[in-house]
Amino acid sequence: MDSIKAPRGTRDVLGDESWKWARVLDVTRGVADDFGFKEVMLPIFEHTELFSRGIGDTTDVVEKEMYTFIDKGDRSITLRPELTASMVRAYLEHDMRHLSQPLKLWGWGPMFRYERPQKGRYRQFAQIDFETLGASNPLADVEIIDSSMEIYRRLGLSNLQVLINSVGCPKCRPAYRDTLKAYFESSAHELCDSCRGRLDRNPLRILDCKQPACRALTDNAPSVIDSLCDECREHFATVTQGLERLGANVKLDNRLVRGLDYYTKTAYEILSGDLGAQNAVCGGGRYDNLAEAIGGPHVPGVGFASGVERIVITMEAQGAYLGNEPKPDVYVISSVQDGTYDAAVIAHELRESGLSADMDFMGRSIKSQMKIASQNGAKFVCVIGDSEAASGTAGVKNMATGEQETVPRGSVVENIKNKIS
Ligand code: ATP
Ligand code: MG
Repeated sequence: MDSIKAPRGTRDVLGDESWKWARVLDVTRGVADDFGFKEVMLPIFEHTELFSRGIGDTTDVVEKEMYTFIDKGDRSITLRPELTASMVRAYLEHDMRHLSQPLKLWGWGPMFRYERPQKGRYRQFAQIDFETLGASNPLADVEIIDSSMEIYRRLGLSNLQVLINSVGCPKCRPAYRDTLKAYFESSAHELCDSCRGRLDRNPLRILDCKQPACRALTDNAPSVIDSLCDECREHFATVTQGLERLGANVKLDNRLVRGLDYYTKTAYEILSGDLGAQNAVCGGGRYDNLAEAIGGPHVPGVGFASGVERIVITMEAQGAYLGNEPKPDVYVISSVQDGTYDAAVIAHELRESGLSADMDFMGRSIKSQMKIASQNGAKFVCVIGDSEAASGTAGVKNMATGEQETVPRGSVVENIKNKIS
């Protein structure tokens, strides 16, 4: 029988990587606390309608990428492809608009999209997600962008580029859509197949196409900025000036439209120069019409999502500080025939006193245990050989300096604690 492998596009995050994730999440939690975002934990599956209405039927995510199935109760269920729609659903469901506004929420966890797997692109991947709900003030956009940049700053990342644009609102976007459609129609034969299909339905999406021919055409496409209504133009000016006041280095990119339909006004993306083809670490923006799209009242919102795998790849590529790989303070070594309980008791007492400790379970020789202690990066070893067992003592060795001494069994913990502090 063939052995069973993980499904295509999924990956096991093993012990040599998971501690790097812990660092990303620690830093994120710190930023969330400092900016006043409260953590929420939302379901991994939702009613399919939440996404088809919330994200938009004509988006790649909804059209091609969702994991949708009928459950045993005949409901159409979808594994969440992103968190924003769920956040807004939870906000509405728990009547949060009657609380003091805005609500600043964050969450993280696995997302699912049926995509072509490659480096930095998976079918199950994790996102960190921050949302500010209930505020239309452009300074909320500035704060969201700043909070995402603060995470990368604290992680020590460099070589990032922040791109920003406005995608307008339902008042001014139709006119821009017409302008753009007219522009692309004249050279429709040069567009790729999927863009020719988008020409009628959603010409803005052509700006996002990565095909060289389409890209060349978009170079001279009319800019959305020229079509913005007064409200959107002022909003955009306040956001860009606000970011400038914070000293943020952002670049206008009139081609940035983002893949999801619910965006209004601000759209932004952060690209990493160390990611290769899948270069976006973060995407976000304002979505003032999402709550209504899923059947709620008008609730303005702005947020971002960032891919954890892509953050970790960038950290590794840049040699950023990845956190401390957990290593035992003490490895407790005992001779095979005797002292097994002693080792267990000492390890227990060390842990109880706040130190980390590990021991052997494989009946290895003292020499092999010493080798493992050193491989595991233990700071100290505590040795109970036959003679120590007989005399009620233990050997304590500092692995960095090689210094060792014999101490009464009862003072092992105190002895090591003193040395460590
Ligand atoms: P891309 O253009 O790379 O497909 P996207 O615009 O679809 O990105 P968003 O929906 O904005 O991405 O999601 C926000 C972030 O989540 C991205 O910037 C990226 O870091 C991460 N991300 C999105 N899709 C994947 C995936 N399939 N695998 C890993 N990370 C992903
Ligand atoms: Mg995508």
